[in-house]
Amino acid sequence: MENTIVAISTGAGNSGIGIIRMSGKNCFEILNKIFIPKNKDSKIKGYTIKYGNIINPKNNEIIDEVLVSYFVSPHSFTRENMCEINTHGGMIVERRILENCLNYGAELAEPGEFTKRAFLNGRIDLAQAESVIDLINSKSKKEAQESIKGLQGKLSEKIESIEKEITDVMVNIEVILDYPEYDVPEITNKETVIKLEKIKNMLDELEKSFDRGKLIRDGIKTVIFGKPNSGKSSLLNAILDEDRAIVSDIEGTTRDSIEEYINIDGISLKLIDTAGIRETDNIIEKIGVEKSKKLANESDLIIAIFDLSKQLEKEDEEIIKIIKDKNAIIVLNKVDIKQKENTIEKEILKLCKPTIKISALKKEGIDELYKKLSEMFKINDIFNDNNVLITNERHKNQIIKAKENIIKGIDAVGKNMPIDISSIYIKQALENLGEITGKNVTEDIINEIFKRFCLGK
Ligand code: GDP
Repeated sequence: MENTIVAISTGAGNSGIGIIRMSGKNCFEILNKIFIPKNKDSKIKGYTIKYGNIINPKNNEIIDEVLVSYFVSPHSFTRENMCEINTHGGMIVERRILENCLNYGAELAEPGEFTKRAFLNGRIDLAQAESVIDLINSKSKKEAQESIKGLQGKLSEKIESIEKEITDVMVNIEVILDYPEYDVPEITNKETVIKLEKIKNMLDELEKSFDRGKLIRDGIKTVIFGKPNSGKSSLLNAILDEDRAIVSDIEGTTRDSIEEYINIDGISLKLIDTAGIRETDNIIEKIGVEKSKKLANESDLIIAIFDLSKQLEKEDEEIIKIIKDKNAIIVLNKVDIKQKENTIEKEILKLCKPTIKISALKKEGIDELYKKLSEMFKINDIFNDNNVLITNERHKNQIIKAKENIIKGIDAVGKNMPIDISSIYIKQALENLGEITGKNVTEDIINEIFKRFCLGK
């Protein structure tokens, strides 16, 4: 790129250090004007760090004492000349250095522009670039691990291996198209169908991995039901005490509203309507049965709490009705003051759902709850699965499109339609996959993707 871009790459607020990042053709010229290294005579070398002062060249005032890392093109994140100025992490200092760079010819980077340059300059492909943002936004260990896999190009390798299979089929078809006189259609068609079926299965497998990937990316959408005083808040507190901290999204980041997450074994439970639990006694009472049903339908998991110190009541029955055909775990609370001959237990037994007894107050049985949840969602399997998982909606949609085209191709070949018709579908599938790695992708899509990034990345 012709222009040189600059941004503050570290988060807002005071911190030990702050980093101002600059990339582009004139990066070192601009730096030269504002940075006085202690060791003046050494040449610029990549992968080195210099110590010195950032100054205001107009009056030679020292703005800060800094360390500057140098990356010489093409050996940098963007493949351009780059530097990173490590300053003291105060907003004023960082802003003044940024302004200095802008005054001497740099332009303010757009969100994600460094990564976009890395993509446009061919250092990473589009799927890898998207993994960068996924990594930054990760809310659980597993999600971060999947993003790293993506960043290392594991998804891209998988897509390329499927592309290769498709290209092989295309080559066979082209031969038939170019030399029709050599063709034995019956046999060739059968072979083509077998190959296309194999490709369809590979795409199918990737598409299915999205459900597991989604669990990792979005967390398990969880709602907690229980009548007033059954122990919902106590359970939440017990969970918090277990050091599986609830993470709240900060407003104005990637999501619209504040959401809360609990981490279990590296996967997050995304709690729906925790505010409802905290502010009022009973969410069913507050929001009504209809809304509760709606919440139940929208969630991946219901945690239903029953109070064993009481007998079955109307509200419990209501909850039992709602969770009957849903993915639910039953928590029988207050075992420490359980009533004998409890009618709740009898009813619950009929539901045949995973059930545990706890005392939220005494914080007993919480580990058992985690173990059950882990089993329900096969979290260990997800962790030990070394296959590539699709976690990105855009990738999934492209895979579905490619699969649909392959199915149309199989149909066309199977029906002995002219081979050039099936070749259109197969080529289309290849293009659909190319959009994942960015081999053929429109500028609109690229812009849309990089808009999701934060400033300075
Ligand atoms: P919520 O209305 O469902 O959120 O219920 P709370 O968590 O506020 O609990 C209601 C009352 O039951 C409080 O006084 C708690 O201390 C008490 N409680 C909750 N869990 C237990 C338990 O396991 N054992 C006993 N003995 N009391 C509990």
